[in-house]
Amino acid sequence: MMNRDETSKYWMDLDSESLDAIRWRFYGHQSDYDWENGPYESAIDCIPLLDHGYIALLDHMGTDIDIVNAARKSFGRESTFFDGKDRKLLRYLWKHRHTSPFEMVEFKFAVKAPLPIARQWMRHRTWSYNEVSRRYTDEDISFYVPDADWIRKQSEIDRQASVESGMDFFSSAMGSHMKMIAAKDICHDRYLELVDDGVCREQARLVLPQSMYVEYVAKVNFSNLLHFLELRLDPHAQWEIQQYAQAIVEMIENIVPETMDIFNA
Ligand SMILES: Cc1cc2nc3c(=O)[nH]c(=O)nc-3n(C[C@H](O)[C@H](O)[C@H](O)COP(=O)(O)OP(=O)(O)OC[C@H]3O[C@@H](n4cnc5c(N)ncnc54)[C@H](O)[C@@H]3O)c2cc1C
Repeated sequence: MMNRDETSKYWMDLDSESLDAIRWRFYGHQSDYDWENGPYESAIDCIPLLDHGYIALLDHMGTDIDIVNAARKSFGRESTFFDGKDRKLLRYLWKHRHTSPFEMVEFKFAVKAPLPIARQWMRHRTWSYNEVSRRYTDEDISFYVPDADWIRKQSEIDRQASVESGMDFFSSAMGSHMKMIAAKDICHDRYLELVDDGVCREQARLVLPQSMYVEYVAKVNFSNLLHFLELRLDPHAQWEIQQYAQAIVEMIENIVPETMDIFNA
């Protein structure tokens, strides 16, 4: 199976207009934004995922030191730089699930993910979400079609799980890949016809398939993000959502390195 680095080739194939469209959507300006050296410097990041998805870190508040300072508030003390005592305290807080100090740190992401992945994500009720509505727009529709070597077999022992397919499955997976393309093309064509017929967008969208990508902004505090990561990095989670969770880890490691060290241990 391909890893996420290999999927980046799809992202690299995106022309600059498509990249600008993403930046425009979330930053409100198109040409003058310096994506690499913008106002958030290295903290802001965007990672391409699957064939047309991505996750972008839009904003964040707080670092490791805000967590330990929140915990020390009851003694009226505050650290100005993170030292060995802070590390010890951070470990104690995590070990004993003293979660409220972790809530002092927040992250805001922009996500483009296939509909079933977004549904899994939004089961996490402690996040705040706003999603692009298909009631308002019939443009920019894209679909997740796994490459043949990303297509997994159904597990025979676990109804929820999939298993990686070997070479013997590859030629049949090529056929499955083509069927997926044909199915989403039919649905998309019918959708456009319905819109042309004058059917309202909120009903025309009923024919769009589950493979459709959806886009949303999502804000969460660090305590609830760590809970999300524990569940969604787990091998029992669907492979696709694991890719998003892993990308989040990569994006926040520079911001909360001490906590992520403890989390990853
Ligand atoms: C591998 C996997 C398989 C899954 N399979 C299914 C499935 O088949 N069907 C299905 O429906 N769901 C499924 N889920 C979703 C799962 O049941 C949770 O809804 C989801 O993981 C969100 O977890 P959460 O409620 O802990 O997170 P959040 O909603 O972010 O909540 C965080 C914590 O806040 C507390 N909390 C939040 N809301 C309430 C509340 N209303 N009452 C009490 N406490 C609350 C709880 O302590 C909770 O753990 C699956 C999840 C995983 C990871």
